[in-house]
Order: sequence, then structure tokens, then C-alpha cells
Amino acid sequence: MQTFINGYDISCCTLCPRECGKDRTMSYGTCGCDDKIRAARSALHHWEEPCISGSNGSGTIFFSGCSLCCCFCQNKEISHEGFGTEISIEKLGACMLDLQEQGAHNINFVTGTHFTPWIIEAVKSVRDRLHIPLVWNSSGYETVKTIRSLKGIIDIYLPDFKYLSEAIAKEYSWAPDYPKYAEAAIIEMHRQVGAPEFDENGIMKKGLIVRHLILPGHRHESMAILQRLSEMLPKDEFLISLMGQYTPPEEKLPYKNLNRRLTSMEYESVLKCAEKLGLNGFSQELSSAQAYYTPEFDLEGLEND
Ligand code: SF4
Ligand code: SF4
Repeated sequence: MQTFINGYDISCCTLCPRECGKDRTMSYGTCGCDDKIRAARSALHHWEEPCISGSNGSGTIFFSGCSLCCCFCQNKEISHEGFGTEISIEKLGACMLDLQEQGAHNINFVTGTHFTPWIIEAVKSVRDRLHIPLVWNSSGYETVKTIRSLKGIIDIYLPDFKYLSEAIAKEYSWAPDYPKYAEAAIIEMHRQVGAPEFDENGIMKKGLIVRHLILPGHRHESMAILQRLSEMLPKDEFLISLMGQYTPPEEKLPYKNLNRRLTSMEYESVLKCAEKLGLNGFSQELSSAQAYYTPEFDLEGLEND
């Protein structure tokens, strides 16, 4: 039987590049989710890029589940171990209004791809009362079709561009097709929102920020990604956010390089490359490689009405 959410048939899910075709009303996809929205936190967050967090914070809603399988994931608890609570579309809409009421500069949907039609429904239900920009904060592992469904709804795209090499994407995230999907999705995101716009306080109103986490032992891959981005998009129409806070997971990985932090030499060389290419954006101090960037997932803002 077909079941539709915002016109999307969830009985044969192809929302992300995994294209499992799962009937979400009866089973779970690679993302670990069925047809119930699950989230782990809805709260102000101060550790995004300055133009997103501003002084009040970004209104982040962290969704449970993820269709990538990164071996170094810092959020495994919510991405693959199912932590979170079930919320209705109405509750999701109420969370957005509550975050706006708390002073959030924006509503920031974190890893929401596998709930895209549900999120669109929730936004529509509160659209007339929601007056702040909406941010799509994703792994970059997206189909163009799903990103197109967000046209006119999302104001700011904040995707990762993790890998350019299929072999590395396969090894670390079990997704050899990541590079081609991420590239096409980022181009579509840019097509929708165009050049960045800011308010009088420097808070972003519209635009694209591409994030890249530099992995230890892979500075050349990072530089290749920067080069690719500089060829893909007009340089003054997107921002880059270079992240040096890679933190090795507690459990040892079978890759020696991923069991250490990034060195200053690796980080500096990637920053220099961005500068040489004339890219604009943000970088973080290496000293920010601390656990406090990962918020505590405690169901804040999700329990009780
Ligand atoms: S969103 Fe989940 S169920 Fe849908 S295609 Fe992706 S992994 Fe499969
Ligand atoms: S995309 Fe992010 S949340 Fe998903 S598995 Fe990778 S690191 Fe974890």
C-alpha cells in the first residue's frame, strides 16, 4: 500500500543515494529509520560558524539516524545506535517556534535527509509564524531530487563535502558514490540560494557554506576538494568552512592515521591551499579539537509539550 507524506511515497524510499526502496511504514532503511520522526535534541547551539550561531545561537534540531556510515562518527549514539525520541510533525513544528521564541537566529535541521518530507510538512504547518531562516545541515550525501524538494523552503545550505576519492569514501563511510552525489547536490544547493546574504549584524540570511573536515593523513584529498569546489562554483558565491577538529573515536580504528589528531602542518597546508585558491570562509583553531563541540544528546526541547 502506498503511503504519502507531503506527496512523497514513503512505501518505497529513495530519499537518499542508498535508494533502499524500503517501505518505511514497515521497515528501517540503511539510515536506521522508519516512518516515525526521531530526534535527539532541539536547543540553541553556539558552536556553528559565526554567521550561523551569532550571539544568540542557532536553533538546532538533531535528527536520529544517518544514511552514511562514517567509521569515525562522533555522534554514533544518535546516527546509528537509535538514540532519540519519537516526535510528531506537530511537535516538530512546535520545536521550531519554541527555538524562534528563545531567540535563535535560524532553525538548523541537522542530518534530516531521511526525514525530508516530514520536515517539509512541519515547516508548512508553522510557516506563517516562522520568521527566521531555515538551515539544511547535512552530510552532503543527497540526491538532487530530494534537494529540489527543499527549493523555496531552505534558505541556507550547510553541507559537508567529505571526500573526492571514491576509494576513501568507500573505506571510511561505505559510500563509494559519495563524491558524485555530494558534488551534484552542492551544485543544486547553490543554484537555489545563490550568493550569500547577511543582515546588518553579520548573520546569514541566505547562502551556501560548504564544510570540510580535514582527516589526518589526507591533506592532499582536502586540497583536491578545495580545488574541485573552486572549479564547480563561482568563488564569491559560497563560503568554505574548514574544520580541523577531527577527534579519534574511543575505539581504535583499523586505520592508523584515523587514531590520531590532525597535525599543525596538515592543517596549515590545507588553509594555505584555500588562501591560494582565493576561497572565502571560516577555519577553526586546532585547539578547538575538543569534545565540547559535540553537544550532549539528552532529548532537550523534545520531551513534554
Ligand atoms: S533515507 Fe533511509 S530508507 Fe530512504 S533510501 Fe535512504 S537509507 Fe534508504
Ligand atoms: S555523516 Fe555525520 S552523523 Fe552521519 S555517520 Fe558520518 S559523521 Fe556520523
